[in-house]
Amino acid sequence: MEDEQEKVVIHGLVCPRPLTHYETVLLGHGSGGKMTRDLIEGTFYPPFENPALMRGDDAAVVAQPEPGRLAISTDSHIVSPLFFPGGDIGHLAVCGTVNDLAMVGARPLWITASFILEEGLPLVILEHVTASMKEAAGEAGVDIIAGDTKVAERGKADGMFISTTGVGWVPSDRAVSGANAQPGDVVLLSGPIGDHGIAVLAARGELAFETALESDIAPLNDLVEKMFDSCSSIHVLRDPTRGGLATALNEIACQSGVAIQLDEEKIPVRPSVAAACELLGFDPLYVANEGKLVAMVPAEDAETILQAMRSAPYGEEACRIGEVEAEPSGKVLMRTAIGGTRVVDMLSGEMLPRIC
Ligand code: MG
Repeated sequence: MEDEQEKVVIHGLVCPRPLTHYETVLLGHGSGGKMTRDLIEGTFYPPFENPALMRGDDAAVVAQPEPGRLAISTDSHIVSPLFFPGGDIGHLAVCGTVNDLAMVGARPLWITASFILEEGLPLVILEHVTASMKEAAGEAGVDIIAGDTKVAERGKADGMFISTTGVGWVPSDRAVSGANAQPGDVVLLSGPIGDHGIAVLAARGELAFETALESDIAPLNDLVEKMFDSCSSIHVLRDPTRGGLATALNEIACQSGVAIQLDEEKIPVRPSVAAACELLGFDPLYVANEGKLVAMVPAEDAETILQAMRSAPYGEEACRIGEVEAEPSGKVLMRTAIGGTRVVDMLSGEMLPRIC
């Protein structure tokens, strides 16, 4: 029988017992010497195994898949706690980069990962995170081909930070950009908003009630492929992460010089997210997502693309939420449930720190 008293929760992960010094990250793991080599061979090579990585050179050498354009994106992850309902920093690091590549119509191919580890971090946490990265990379069909590890002294990094860079290939018939929204386009959303932000808050114990809500964290490249298979005319794709849907749409309205008109009643929000937002005084439009996308597509193709989204596992709840208009340029407007119209601004300041 397990001894409940022995259990410790570290960075959101339940460890069966307190850990000894030798079960944690030590400064020597970042020395570049034997301990670094042991960490690479013991903890990073087994889950990430692929020829480019295992060659062990200073840079991974890969063959260019096809002639054409490459997309490159980079991201850093500082979420707290490291583990939350539905995922952890490892899923976040891979999915965040995969999704940023997919949002320009790229097929993600390769990821590099740089780890800043805090001295004293339990090695079991690192092992869970690399297993999550393997799982997410496997689902997305990408290889983690290069990496780096540095160790910061105790108290100088909060457990673990991960920076990732991704490379993807963009098929020649795709022209997706936040600058391509056209008046008359329909705005599509892949599912309910706010799940990630509220799930992380719940993991911090900042909600006054229990919730079974999980982060929506997911790789969206398969959803995007299904959308392009149905129709290549997609103008804009964006994943509304930090700053939420409102901020993503404001960015697009400014980039494209258009107005975006939303219908409040059509924007899906789970009851548990709505309840948490009500309690905390948040607007779900500003809460982070990690497995949702918003698309702007020609009106004549909207139904075809919407049906394609609904056929994908991460797009089953896709819906129309509004349309693009010419004026007022750079603004996002919302038709409210009671029949009025309000301006939806970009997020100003920081509502939820350390969310991704
Ligand atoms: Mg993004």
